[in-house]
Amino acid sequence: MSEFDIIRHYFQAHTLTREDVTLGIGDDAAIVTIPAHHELVVTTDTLNEGVHFLKETSAFNIGHKSVAVNLSDLAAMGATPAWMTLALTLPSANQAWLDDFSKGLFSLAKQYRVALIGGDLTKGPLSISIQALGLIPNNQALLRSGAKPGDFIYISGTLGDAAFALHLISQNLSVHDSLLNRLHQPTPRIQLGEQLRGIAHAVIDISDGFAADLNHILEQSKVGARINVDQLPLSSALTQFASKNEAIHFALTGGDDYELCFTIPPEKESMLKSISEQLQLPLTRIGIITHDQTMILHHNNGIPYHGSTEGYQHFK
Ligand code: ADP
Ligand code: MG
Repeated sequence: MSEFDIIRHYFQAHTLTREDVTLGIGDDAAIVTIPAHHELVVTTDTLNEGVHFLKETSAFNIGHKSVAVNLSDLAAMGATPAWMTLALTLPSANQAWLDDFSKGLFSLAKQYRVALIGGDLTKGPLSISIQALGLIPNNQALLRSGAKPGDFIYISGTLGDAAFALHLISQNLSVHDSLLNRLHQPTPRIQLGEQLRGIAHAVIDISDGFAADLNHILEQSKVGARINVDQLPLSSALTQFASKNEAIHFALTGGDDYELCFTIPPEKESMLKSISEQLQLPLTRIGIITHDQTMILHHNNGIPYHGSTEGYQHFK
């Protein structure tokens, strides 16, 4: 298959149509229409073999995750996803791989009504870059910089599952399906992000480790936090297969969670109950924003937690 056959067969043929796509795949660039009174929210994330996924990872899961991590960034802004582009670098034109990859990619793209509007295809070591574009009503985007002292700190879903799965894989141990699923097919919290518009003061998605990512909110908001590590939301699979200390460690530092961490003023807290019920997604209060610009971690009994809080960094 030629480069153009691949683009047509695996990508152009499967993307959904949206009325706001004036010009999709096929020309030198795409054209989309932004509705009145809305802002465009743009993000890019790359997945590299050996860094973001293991050599053994299925093409379906790679396709799924490459969309999920980008949509997670849009969720953290409160944006509604609309379009994406795909820059794909492949060692060879393996048709079975492309078929599986595109199925994973479109499974999530269709779920959130995201149209693939363009991209690039090159030969080289396997690497997937997606740019996702979303929409938000003017001035409603949720930033990292809005946290205020007294805000409660919340986490969606559970933390540490993906990192624990990766840890078990690296030890050649068997991994419970629910943990594997969290590693390979993370769920971008799009509806939660949309519902937090006008409610949350600050939001971030947790990709590099909860403590490291919360730190971005603290630095950009010029505030501190007190976190009760015994309140961190842990899945039953994690608490079943990891020790309490391990579970806290993976929840604090693991990364690859793609949950949202957000801060909310106490008077808005009661609104979270119906959001949580409607989305069938646990929302757990784990701490409070403080004035002094440090992060304090403690247990239920107030005893300080002294474990690592370092997250994932590429050039360390
Ligand atoms: P150019 O040479 O002008 O960069 P290309 O030949 O790379 O254009 O791409 C031709 C068309 O196919 C463009 O519209 C481009 O956006 C689209 N395209 C290329 N690669 C992909 C891909 N992996 N997925 C979706 N669309 C793609
Ligand atoms: Mg090109």
